[in-house]
Amino acid sequence: MLPDNHNHYLACGDIEGMVTAAAAAGVAELVFTEHIHHIDEARALSQYIETRFAPEGPPLPHAAYVADVHAVAATAPIAVRCGIELDVAADNAELTAATRSFRRAYGADWDVVIGSVHVIANDHSIEGDGPTTDADAAWADYLERLVAAAASGSYDVVSHPVRLAQSHPDAPAFLDARLRDLARAAAHADVALEVNGTDFERWPELVARLIDACSRNATPVSLGSDAHRPAKAGRVRAASDLLLGAGIRRVAAFERRSRRVVAL
Ligand SMILES: [Zn+2]
Ligand SMILES: [Zn+2]
Repeated sequence: MLPDNHNHYLACGDIEGMVTAAAAAGVAELVFTEHIHHIDEARALSQYIETRFAPEGPPLPHAAYVADVHAVAATAPIAVRCGIELDVAADNAELTAATRSFRRAYGADWDVVIGSVHVIANDHSIEGDGPTTDADAAWADYLERLVAAAASGSYDVVSHPVRLAQSHPDAPAFLDARLRDLARAAAHADVALEVNGTDFERWPELVARLIDACSRNATPVSLGSDAHRPAKAGRVRAASDLLLGAGIRRVAAFERRSRRVVAL
């Protein structure tokens, strides 16, 4: 029974296809977590949200997003839930204030809140802007931001913790130590760290090191395929053997912001 807590449908525009594919892949609980910059009301609150990242599909009102998810959930063969993927950038006051207002207005509609670091210092995008001049400094910055996000207790899940490899493929010598710091901070704050399907597909060895850190600290683990089209639905299942091998037999499922564990 696989709870898959991080997925998108606006990119492909086929929410029913996503649900059908996820069910076929063995997902029992599917959460859609669209980016904040796809929601009209969040875009209206912040020029940064409106302009920093291009939407993957047409933006829509929050009520329409929730209605899309609830409509498919009504007939789906599996549980389908509604969450959100928020951008974490504590040094961006405009984004932080807008996100706080947005959460206050719409947070009651979400089953899970994902916190994602998509930019490091100087608003450098971890995926779109290529490498910085100092890879070690970039990794230290990225992981520090993840630790702060976890420690804040503001998110149910801190997502894709090795995604910086997209722009900085050479992991630093201190990676394992910092991943353990992150896993310890998350466990202390009772926040889950994400084993991410995109990351596992691209950098399984780095995800293995994250899983090891979670195992050592008894950190809650959330699975998220981060699928944007049906062909990728449920792909995080491929990490199950690695999790079981590390002694992690239970993973997080979410409903109305409340976490429970289910056996892998
Ligand atoms: Zn993300
Ligand atoms: Zn995502």
